[in-house]
Amino acid sequence: MTVLTSLREIVGDTHVFTSLDDVRSYVSDWRGLYTGRPLCVIRPGNVDECASVVRLCHEQQLAIVPQGGNTGLAAGAVPDDSGREIVLSLARMNRIRRVDPVGMTIELEAGCVLKTAQDAASSVMRMLPISFAAEGTAQVGGIISTNAGGVNVLRYGMTRQLVLGLEVVRADGTILRALRHLRKDNAGYDWKQLFIGSEGTLGITTAAVLRLVPAPRHKVTSLLSVADLDSALALLKLTQDALGDTISSFEIMSRQSLDLVRTHFGLAAPFDSGEWVLLLEAAASLPGLREAVENVLAGALDADLALDCVIAESEDQAARLWNLREFISEAEHRAGGTLKHDISVPISSVPAFVREAMANIVSRVEGARASIFGHIGDGNLHFNVMLPAGSDKLALSRTLHDLVIASEGSISAEHGIGQYRVEELERNRSPQEMELLRTLKRSLDPSNTLNPNKVLRRVHAT
Ligand SMILES: Cc1cc2nc3c(=O)[nH]c(=O)nc-3n(C[C@H](O)[C@H](O)[C@H](O)COP(=O)(O)OP(=O)(O)OC[C@H]3O[C@@H](n4cnc5c(N)ncnc54)[C@H](O)[C@@H]3O)c2cc1C
Repeated sequence: MTVLTSLREIVGDTHVFTSLDDVRSYVSDWRGLYTGRPLCVIRPGNVDECASVVRLCHEQQLAIVPQGGNTGLAAGAVPDDSGREIVLSLARMNRIRRVDPVGMTIELEAGCVLKTAQDAASSVMRMLPISFAAEGTAQVGGIISTNAGGVNVLRYGMTRQLVLGLEVVRADGTILRALRHLRKDNAGYDWKQLFIGSEGTLGITTAAVLRLVPAPRHKVTSLLSVADLDSALALLKLTQDALGDTISSFEIMSRQSLDLVRTHFGLAAPFDSGEWVLLLEAAASLPGLREAVENVLAGALDADLALDCVIAESEDQAARLWNLREFISEAEHRAGGTLKHDISVPISSVPAFVREAMANIVSRVEGARASIFGHIGDGNLHFNVMLPAGSDKLALSRTLHDLVIASEGSISAEHGIGQYRVEELERNRSPQEMELLRTLKRSLDPSNTLNPNKVLRRVHAT
């Protein structure tokens, strides 16, 4: 019996795809930088089918590439072109099993789309606070496996901080079931942390329990322009002093990024002042939030920290302000793409880092333009560069990453390593750290069948 026949026996004929037409949407990454050729795409319908597929692949030494919504920005979910890797899509495992408004938890399968999970939480006045522009497609298994960040990290943390329980299929097909709804659980090692953010290289997430928070009754969204990044950080401090942890988002957009949105979507910020524009959102359940935000922003204008400012008067207006921020990635795509960097530095180092990067890298390449935006409240910038044809992209990225490391930052704040940054991880982490990563990989996936060559290469190198 061939492997394909055995796989069809496990999940049924209609859930194993092999034709070019059927596999097309599974083989390229969101940015279109990588395209692979799998043996097949398989879509198990439950955890037992998933475990049987993994067991069979383990026996046959076939590599598995887990895939969620395939929106990842590090090309971790696409196969290589050997024709021997299997794409395992979690899309059919998309049930929400339980929403508990009292315990404030949601239990759901890995293939559930993030937006569907958010809506289920909202229906009982709770909020799943993980949010970013691809939330209509990204899946829960994908956000857990990339430890996704997004626009609410400032207040609620990364995905890791919201995972209470996990169900994982290990490399040999064993199922680890720990779908606990507990806030406190110090019994032994917290092994689930190993799988969160491991990008499908240590296990396959099949279900999870996530922590919810009370849905705030009031939200105030505002847009402000500032002259420079020092003013942006002064505003961050001012608003945090005055509004405390009601601030959920503190995002930044460069003028160049906004120009791209204007050109490709016809959307413009309501003012032209300032080199940088901030999007600030505060949320709370007690009344008085709007007045508090108005007072702080009036103070910021008086002190010349902010140059211009608007506060959304309706949900519709707030959504339009958010569109400016969320359309940037797609506008860059339409403009022909950018050389992307997803970096973080200590928050107070952001202005110096950007000054240095602009002066030493971008300004020195004839015709280069930077589109910088991101989660400045977390010290996380998407430092993307439009380059003239023929530019040495690798050299530019390496120089930028060297500056990041010199600033004690990270070369991947939230998008992960995938296959896009494998060599850069090797270059920027110490040999001791890399050896620890390889030891963990060898221990959890000794035959290297789970998403090989993503995050780490040379797993068995000594
Ligand atoms: C427009 C846009 C905006 C974005 N904004 C943000 C942002 O603000 N913050 C942020 O953090 N990210 C952002 N992202 C990237 C983000 O990481 C992904 O969108 C999301 O987390 C990945 O989910 P996915 O289901 O699409 O995973 P995929 O892309 O399918 O997979 C991502 C990785 O996880 C692995 N994987 C997927 N599912 C499983 C599973 N069940 N078990 C084991 N491994 C699995 C894959 O093998 C791959 O390595 C953005 C992406 C886009 C396109």
